[in-house]
Amino acid sequence: METPILVIFVDAYPYADSEPLAKKLKALTYKKVTPGVGYSINVKAEIFAKLKPDEVGYFCEWIYNKEKVHKWMTPLVVQILTLIGSINNFSNRVIHKLVRMVIKEPIYAIPFDILPYLKNAGATAYEDTFKKPTFLTKLNFTRVLYSKVGVNDEKVFKEAKAVLKRDTPKKLFVSTAELDGIMHYYGKGSEEYNKQIKLIDKHIIELVREFNEIHGAESQYFIFSDHGMANVDEGVLFDIRKVLGKPGKNSYSYFIDATFFRVWLNNKELKAKLVDAFDTVKQGHVLDEKERNQYGLNNIEHGDVIFLLDEGKMFSPSFFGNTICKAMHGYDPVLESQQGTIISSFKINEEVVNAYQIHDLVMASETA
Ligand SMILES: [Zn+2]
Repeated sequence: METPILVIFVDAYPYADSEPLAKKLKALTYKKVTPGVGYSINVKAEIFAKLKPDEVGYFCEWIYNKEKVHKWMTPLVVQILTLIGSINNFSNRVIHKLVRMVIKEPIYAIPFDILPYLKNAGATAYEDTFKKPTFLTKLNFTRVLYSKVGVNDEKVFKEAKAVLKRDTPKKLFVSTAELDGIMHYYGKGSEEYNKQIKLIDKHIIELVREFNEIHGAESQYFIFSDHGMANVDEGVLFDIRKVLGKPGKNSYSYFIDATFFRVWLNNKELKAKLVDAFDTVKQGHVLDEKERNQYGLNNIEHGDVIFLLDEGKMFSPSFFGNTICKAMHGYDPVLESQQGTIISSFKINEEVVNAYQIHDLVMASETA
């Protein structure tokens, strides 16, 4: 007998603020979800496909590629683009926009001398373009995705209710992302944030009720998020070019994410100098072997050296721009602020659920 299962994914819904929802649903399970390392792109791979960075083959969205990815970007082209970008902020934005139209990828503010060797490799695990098996493909879920409907929770839930009524799918998956953006922009605990949580809770309660009305008492629901969020209080500058000189094929390459600074050393002799320089940055640390092993981040292709900022800090500038967000995620996964949530009709005995375990929990509810 096939168990009807409703899965609702709310990007960045923090554990602490989802308690009212758990109570209103009278859920059997309300637990913390400790995220995996990195941003949503990796945590989703853990949740839906049970794949850590080493297993899924990428860490963060952009990865370094030894072979040139954008062959048309010759040294001369790079030089011209860099020159135009260096006139002022406006020209830099415009030239990045133009290159973005050529490459057809969101290149943000990535420096042009690094871009030719960077590949946008991260794939969202619940999209149908994701190549590896997930619990969504294994159990043949019908999907209502914000990527198709829009980053608008009201619209996504409306669409989900319409699909449920029309097709009565026994397996329904809904993904929303508006809360994540609101927290980045307005901060956690802001008026906008509180309003959005109320809206999400209301829609989830209605959707769970409607799903149960159609599919009966044996149906299960899972509501979960990939991580929480911490408000940001400081931008951190690390100028690697001052330390190691110009990046290049015979020296090094790097990527500055919001909270991670990843460096690939084509010349391994640069390592000591780099680590010494990172040691002077008091707002974070270089991930050691033990941490990388625990995170499933052993492969050197993720970066010879990976520096992680402390809670509430953000690189400025980063490859996404000069400004810092009001709130951020992607810190040490065990921090209280980073805990996501899982609320379910399915009884879960673990005290804390790791993102990596959710795949098996959903699969287990099918046969329970
Ligand atoms: Zn986010």
